[in-house]
Amino acid sequence: MRPENKVKDCNQCGKCCIKYGRDGLSVSPSQLDYWENYKPEIFKFVKEGKLWIDPDNGKQVERCPWLRKTPNQNKYTCDIYFDRPDDCKYYPSTIDEMLRDECEMLEDKDLTNPKQGQKALDRIMEDSRSPFE
Ligand code: SF4
Ligand code: SF4
Repeated sequence: MRPENKVKDCNQCGKCCIKYGRDGLSVSPSQLDYWENYKPEIFKFVKEGKLWIDPDNGKQVERCPWLRKTPNQNKYTCDIYFDRPDDCKYYPSTIDEMLRDECEMLEDKDLTNPKQGQKALDRIMEDSRSPFE
């Protein structure tokens, strides 16, 4: 029987948020509108459509302001999980991206059969990638 490609669940290692959360995220106009109207605490970290800008000094933050490390564990959570940028909802999108970023959802099997690995990834990400309303 052929081994099934699974892709592990996200273990909240935080690598992706640390790498992209500072200045590597884009946001759709509809999501910006939503934040502006309903989530002013998020919107105040946006300046001219750019994420994330410290509202106190107008400078790019050093790390995503919503990334929270779990005390005494190497795990991270997102303070705005349900309202996070679309870019975050879509990550990871490809096996290549996971490999490049050392994403810990990746299994050895996904590397030997990347096509199946991509299918498994698309399955596991189906809910997360639902479009922003
Ligand atoms: S908004 Fe949340 S999911 Fe996105 S980079 Fe920041 S902590 Fe990570
Ligand atoms: S790098 Fe992968 S395993 Fe780590 S938090 Fe991001 S999606 Fe999850």
